[in-house]
Amino acid sequence: MKHGFLLLAMAFSLLSCTYSQSTKKTAMDTNDKKNPVYSNSDSGKVNLTDAEWKKILPENVYYIARQKGTESPWSSKYEDSKEVGTYYCAACGNALFKSDTKFESGCGWPSFYQPISKGSIIYQPDHSHGMDRTEVQCGRCKAHLGHVFDDGPPPTGLRYCINGVILDFKKAQEAEEKYKKDTKQ
Ligand SMILES: [Zn+2]
Repeated sequence: MKHGFLLLAMAFSLLSCTYSQSTKKTAMDTNDKKNPVYSNSDSGKVNLTDAEWKKILPENVYYIARQKGTESPWSSKYEDSKEVGTYYCAACGNALFKSDTKFESGCGWPSFYQPISKGSIIYQPDHSHGMDRTEVQCGRCKAHLGHVFDDGPPPTGLRYCINGVILDFKKAQEAEEKYKKDTKQ
C-alpha cells in the first residue's frame, strides 16, 4: 500500500515536471531559442531571411521586429523603469539607447529623446494606417523598433516611441562587465 502511494507520487511529480517544462517552452523568453547573431559588441550588419529570423527569435520579438507589430500600450516593464543602464536590440544585441535619455512621455511605450549613436538607428518613412510617420529600425539588423515623433523634450525635441519587447536592458554595471569580458577574448 505504502509502495503504491510512492509510485503515484513519483508519477505525479514526473507529470508536473513535464508540464512545467512545456509551459517554459512557450514562455516568451529570449533565452529559449539559440540566437547566433546576438552580440553586444559586434557591429557587423546582420542580414537574415525572414525564415531564419523566425527560427531564432521568440514569437513576440519576431512579431515586433520582422512583422512591424506594436505591443499593447502600458504592457512593457520598461515603460516606467528608471534603472540606469543600456537598452539593446532584443533581436541582435545592438546598443540602441542609454537610460539617461529615457523620459516619461505618458504615451504607454518606453520613450527616449536620443539614440546612443547616429548609426545605431535607421529611419524609414512610414505611410501605413493613413498616417505620415517615421519608422525607426535597428541600425544593425533592421528590426522594427517603433516610431520617432517631433514632440519630445529638449535638447533634441524628439520622442523615440519604442516597443519594450524589442528592448533588452542591461544594468550599467552588468553591461560594463560583459563588455570587458567580450573585448578580452
Ligand atoms: Zn538589431
